[in-house]
Amino acid sequence: MIDLHCHSHYSDGELSPKALIDKALLNEITLLAITDHDCTDGIEQAKVYARRHKINLIEGVELSIKWKKHDIHVLGLNINHSADAMHKGLIYQYNQRDKRAHEIASKLTKLGIDDCYSKASSIAKGKIITRPHFAKVVVSEGLAKDFQSAFKRFLSRGKAAYVPTPWMNLEQGVNVIHESGGVAIIAHPHRYGFSPTQLRNLIDEFKCNNGAGIEVVSGFTTKDQASQLAALCNQYKLFASVGSDYHGPSMSKIDLGKQMMMPKSCQPIWHQW
Ligand code: AMP
Ligand code: MN
Ligand code: MN
Ligand code: MN
Repeated sequence: MIDLHCHSHYSDGELSPKALIDKALLNEITLLAITDHDCTDGIEQAKVYARRHKINLIEGVELSIKWKKHDIHVLGLNINHSADAMHKGLIYQYNQRDKRAHEIASKLTKLGIDDCYSKASSIAKGKIITRPHFAKVVVSEGLAKDFQSAFKRFLSRGKAAYVPTPWMNLEQGVNVIHESGGVAIIAHPHRYGFSPTQLRNLIDEFKCNNGAGIEVVSGFTTKDQASQLAALCNQYKLFASVGSDYHGPSMSKIDLGKQMMMPKSCQPIWHQW
């Protein structure tokens, strides 16, 4: 079993890197990448623990990218997380994220949640603050009935507490990944609500920047979507990646490594490692 996309509590996941590796062992995963949002702080401890338990761990990250007016995600896989370029890139992302957190908090304060930044920060346990942390605050303060409605009513694009963020652009993101020795993969292409033309435009630009592949199977992918993405991979000569995008037992329906099988026509990105 292979899973090249999951989150620890260093970003918006519920489990520690060690607990993710314990779960990987239980689920008979042989190759695992931990890909926290704009953050590699969990990787060092994960590497030590994975080595002890004989799990092959790939160093990963999921970068937030501004592409045209859209927010998309690009995975950096097989990176060296201590590379200077990654370090600098992630400081930029951290600063944008923290500035955004203050702005989201101020919008939510106007909607009735006092001291919102500290509440989100305390749920994030002092680590990076993500929208899921704000969603949890919104629910616990009674402004939404559950996590999904917190996004639907407040945190999704265009909603009352949404704040546009100047993340790195596609070229910058892919370059940071390359300068850190990794390969760039477009994460969960079906989650952006793009038309077929928009998706092709994204792939064209990604190819121009030497992006390596597409995440053909994510935790949410349907069989039809996977075949469509496999066809795009073959047409554009891109590698394919697979990952559950697991966030933890109460946040994800699909368990670690339990995503669908990849269509057979694809060239797996991990064959080159
Ligand atoms: P952020 O990087 O802080 O903007 O948070 C993005 C994360 O929020 C994604 O990786 C998802 O885990 C989560 N997310 C985004 N949109 C939704 C949604 N509509 N419902 C539930 N979770 C969402
Ligand atoms: Mn997430
Ligand atoms: Mn994502
Ligand atoms: Mn993810």
